[in-house]
Amino acid sequence: MQYRTVPKSGDKLSVLGIGAMRLPTQFGRINEKEAISLIRSAIDLGVTYIDTAVPYHAGASEPLVGKALRDGYRERVSIATKLPPWIVFSREDMDTVLAEQLSKLETNIIDYYLLHSLEATSWKKLSDLDVLPFLDEAKQSGKIKYAGFSFHGDIVTFKKIIDAYDWDFCQIQLNILDEQYQAGLEGLRYAASRNIAVFIMEPLRGGMLAKAPNSVQDVYTKLRPTWTPVEWALRYLWNYPEVTLLLSGMTEESQLIENVTIAEKALQNSLSDEEKEMIREVQNIYKKEIKVECTGCGYCMPCPFGVNIQQCFSFYNQKYMYNRSQFFMYLMQLDGMFGPESRAGLCRKCGACVSKCPQQLQIPELLSDVQKEFEGPIKQHFIVPIIKGCYGMYKKLKMK
Ligand code: SF4
Ligand code: SF4
Repeated sequence: MQYRTVPKSGDKLSVLGIGAMRLPTQFGRINEKEAISLIRSAIDLGVTYIDTAVPYHAGASEPLVGKALRDGYRERVSIATKLPPWIVFSREDMDTVLAEQLSKLETNIIDYYLLHSLEATSWKKLSDLDVLPFLDEAKQSGKIKYAGFSFHGDIVTFKKIIDAYDWDFCQIQLNILDEQYQAGLEGLRYAASRNIAVFIMEPLRGGMLAKAPNSVQDVYTKLRPTWTPVEWALRYLWNYPEVTLLLSGMTEESQLIENVTIAEKALQNSLSDEEKEMIREVQNIYKKEIKVECTGCGYCMPCPFGVNIQQCFSFYNQKYMYNRSQFFMYLMQLDGMFGPESRAGLCRKCGACVSKCPQQLQIPELLSDVQKEFEGPIKQHFIVPIIKGCYGMYKKLKMK
C-alpha cells in the first residue's frame, strides 16, 4: 500500500480509503458478516481510512462501521463521517448529531469530520447557523480531529468555501469523466495550492467506469492489454500528486484485492504522455454514449411514488453504452414481476427528488425519457399483465 501525507497535519494515509456507502447487502440491508469481514480485510491489507455518513444505507452504515472497528481495528484506521445540512436547523442540532455519531461509531473522537455535500444553499444555511465556530469547538473539545467538507456544487462556490476557513481537507467528485464538473480539476489544484488535502469520491462514477463498453475497451486494450478499466480509472487519479486518497465503495473481496493491487503500483506522475492521450480518447467516446450522468448514489431516494430512480437510469445507460436491450431486466426488476412496481412511469413529477441530487439532474424529465424507452403502451397494457398472470399461475401450481 502506498501512503500520502496530509499537508497540514503531516498524517500519513493510505491512498485507498474504504467508502462505506456501498457495503455488501442482502435483501436490501447490509450483510453484516460480509461487510465487517470486508472492512477488516481492507485494514489488514494496509488501508487506514474509512468514510461513512448518516444517510448511507438508510442510517445503518455508521453503526456497522462502529461494530467492524471493534477488536482493535479502531486504533488502526482513521474514521470520517459527516454533518448532514438537511437535518440541522440550529447550532444545538450540530452538537446533537455529532454526539449521536460518536455513539454509533463507538469512538471518542472522529478523525476526519466533514460538512456533507455542500453547495451554495447548504453552505449558506450552515454558515448562518454558525457551523464554523461549531467546528472550532468540536476540535478544541477533542470530539473531532480534522475538519473538512464534501462538495457537490459549482467551482465558484467551491473556491468561496475553501477560502472561508482553515480547512484540513476537502472531498470532491473526480474521475475520468468529471474533470470539468463541480469542483473538478480546477478545484483539486485550488485546494492543493492552499495546503488542503483532497480526498476523491466517485472514482468509478458509481461503478459506471468499472466496466467499459466495447468501444472504450478496444482503445484501452490497444495500449495496455492487461490493465482493466478499473486500473485505468484509479491510475488516472493517483497520477495527480494533489490527490491524497480516493474512496472506493467496495462490495466484494475481489474488488478490494484488485484495488489494493493497483494502489501498490500506481505512483504519482507515472502515466506516460501516450497513456494520457489515450484517456482523452476514452473521454470523448464516453461523452457520446452516456445518456444520464447518474452516479447511483441514491440520495434522491426514496421516491414517495415508489420509483427506483437510480435503477431506471442504470438500465437506460446500459442499453446505450453496451447496446443491450435491457427489456427483461427492466421487466423483472422495475415492472414489478417479483415485488412492487418501481418503474419510471410511476413518477408524478412532484419534484421532491430534484434538490437532493448532487449531480443536479432534472430527474422527472429524464424519467420521462426512460419511460418512453422502456414502457410502451403495448408492453404495459398487454405484455406485462400477461407475463405477470402466467407467473402468478406458475407460482400457484408450484405451491399445490
Ligand atoms: S419527481 Fe418523480 S421520481 Fe422524483 S420524487 Fe417525485 S415522483 Fe418520485
Ligand atoms: S439521480 Fe442523482 S441523486 Fe439519484 S442516484 Fe442518480 S446521481 Fe444520485
